[in-house]
Amino acid sequence: MPVRFSPARWERAYRGVVRTAFGQVPFYRDQWVAAGRALDDPEAVPSAALTGQSHRLCPFARPFDASQEPSLWIGDGRDLRDALALAGAPRRTPVLEVRSAVLDRRALTPAGPRYGVLLAPDAPVVDEARRGALNATALGLATRAGQAIVVGERPALDAILPELHGVRVHAVERMDVARAVRESRPGVVHDPHLGYFAGIHPGCGRTHLLWHRFHARPAGRATAVTALRRRRPVLAGVVPDGAEALGTAACPEHGTPIVSTH
Ligand SMILES: [Zn+2]
Repeated sequence: MPVRFSPARWERAYRGVVRTAFGQVPFYRDQWVAAGRALDDPEAVPSAALTGQSHRLCPFARPFDASQEPSLWIGDGRDLRDALALAGAPRRTPVLEVRSAVLDRRALTPAGPRYGVLLAPDAPVVDEARRGALNATALGLATRAGQAIVVGERPALDAILPELHGVRVHAVERMDVARAVRESRPGVVHDPHLGYFAGIHPGCGRTHLLWHRFHARPAGRATAVTALRRRRPVLAGVVPDGAEALGTAACPEHGTPIVSTH
């Protein structure tokens, strides 16, 4: 998609995903069956309801195989890259992401920046020594570069940042969309199934959707989000955690889609 936002193009991209979803993906095809007719839009589904649905969210032609591939919920590094850019984080600085498990990924995207995982303080590890060993790679990356972007929930950042003394740290808070809209603090917006789908714009303080990668539309009082670039899993009409009473609008300053209170 080009740099300038076009509502018509955005809508077409959404329609394309919806066509694929109903035509090729069991989870959405079943919505037609349940409704007894062809629906125009996917039903709004709370993100939490996607747990355990990996098989049904992949196209018939490319089913999910838990024995052959990693979890579908690891996330696409390009989503985080775009969320960080939106939130005003420096580019090309190594990115350390706080996660509950290590991830074999050396770069956030094929084009960079370098990437490492820091285990969350509550991540399941046998002991602190093991945690230290697992974190050493990411901490080494930051130390060598002399700087790092560290992404995580506030309590995790508070626990981990002291380990990065001597490193110029750009801490980026990860939060759910309700918190982002309520507090409009700097940060990026994450949902366990959609991944990073929005960020707080440092200029206006509003929660901007990553519109290149996600579509959002009202679903009753809620906001339903569709991932425009992801093919496995296909995510259409997902209500992110915390978006049950949030709406969509155009930012009065930037003209691009935001998530906001009603
Ligand atoms: Zn704005």
